[in-house]
Amino acid sequence: MSGEDELVLELSRRGVRYLAVTWVNHTGSTLVKTVSLPHMEGAAARGLGFSPVSDAFTATGGIDPEQSLARPDGDLRLVPDLGQVAILDETLGWAWAPGDRRERTGAAYSADQRSFCRRQLEALAGAGLVMRAGFELEWVVGQETPDGTFRPAVLGSPYGADRLVDGLDYVSAVAEALDRASVAWLQVHPEYGPAQFEVSLPPADPLTAADQVVLAKLVIQRATSKLGLRCSFSPVVELGTVGNGGHMHLSLEQGGVPVLSGGDGPGGLRPAGQAVVAGLLHHLPGLVPLGCALGVSYLRLVPETWSAPFVAWGIENREAALRLVPSAVDGAPATLEYKTADLSANPYLLVGGIAAAIVESIATGRPLPAPVVGDPGQLPQPPDRVPVNVSQAAEALAASELLRDAMGERLHDTLVESRQAEARRVASLTPEQSVASTRWWPFGEDPA
Ligand code: GLU
Ligand code: MG
Repeated sequence: MSGEDELVLELSRRGVRYLAVTWVNHTGSTLVKTVSLPHMEGAAARGLGFSPVSDAFTATGGIDPEQSLARPDGDLRLVPDLGQVAILDETLGWAWAPGDRRERTGAAYSADQRSFCRRQLEALAGAGLVMRAGFELEWVVGQETPDGTFRPAVLGSPYGADRLVDGLDYVSAVAEALDRASVAWLQVHPEYGPAQFEVSLPPADPLTAADQVVLAKLVIQRATSKLGLRCSFSPVVELGTVGNGGHMHLSLEQGGVPVLSGGDGPGGLRPAGQAVVAGLLHHLPGLVPLGCALGVSYLRLVPETWSAPFVAWGIENREAALRLVPSAVDGAPATLEYKTADLSANPYLLVGGIAAAIVESIATGRPLPAPVVGDPGQLPQPPDRVPVNVSQAAEALAASELLRDAMGERLHDTLVESRQAEARRVASLTPEQSVASTRWWPFGEDPA
């Protein structure tokens, strides 16, 4: 019996009847095709058809007619990665797998985000580097009101045990749903904003870490709607409150040696670690649009909200885009927290872009600027800000030769087009209207 036959048997023993296969488009929306269990092996062999138009979707759904991928012709095959199958909902018989999009010839589709990620991780391994990554997911749980505003579904104060207890049914439902889907998680806690929570996922190989973000969001959404509530992963749910981030922690080894600790550099960085931090800062403007896809992503990136909108690094500094978390007394490896990302990110593009920047940075070996201490915004000469709106972000992405080379023209060009489309979408909206238009992200609007 083949491994795939065994998987089908095992899934059917667990009551699975359907498989949801997802991919994440340029705007960070998770899209899906589903297949019945008896056809899962066929899907893995031949893929499921879908038009390349999905990367021409706007952030709120619907096709952007100006996108070069907005064409009626052409087709791709979505191939589930059966090595990553997880149970999405046991009671209803659903499993999940991430998919790669291929040409009908079987070749990888040149604008496929997950394939891009895999290629960059192969290049990283080829350079003798081992990266581990883990994401933190922040979201709010609310009730929709007739006028579309946000009403917190749980009371209680920032990080408050009162909020945990007020929302204990909710938090338990989320934790249990994550456990049932075998999404490993380290911590869950009430965050700073109203009815805001956070779950942190443990370090994993970076492709798995990106897959787990996709799955965790689906599981949280499902657990929330089962209770008649709505969750939002929007970077900004209400103006004037802190936003929802999607930070990524990474650790890195070169030849088996951790490069972010054990050295003589600031914070214990070894020379390669210093090159990585310096290089990520250098490439940051081009990387930000990978982690921040929405117009409102840039309303989140404001000072004094710990969203870290400064092109700076610091040791345990939560206003710096790169926060070094030095090695702990237990010897756990140091991590670098990449904070200028939210959950509109396509995690495959973000991980792949960071991997490409790391390989280039170690090869180049730029000098490391001094870490910022205290609030960078209050320094006599504050560091540069990351792009302050999606239009600037689109320009930074277009100007990134690193990402153009790593992605290839088709992926890079169409991604720039996607950010430009979002810039056009929000150009005529006030900040309030912009926030309202994506308040329940990833829920979109019905296309006109
Ligand atoms: N909510 C903050 C953000 O927008 C992050 C808070 C924190 O965990 O440091 O990224
Ligand atoms: Mg947090």
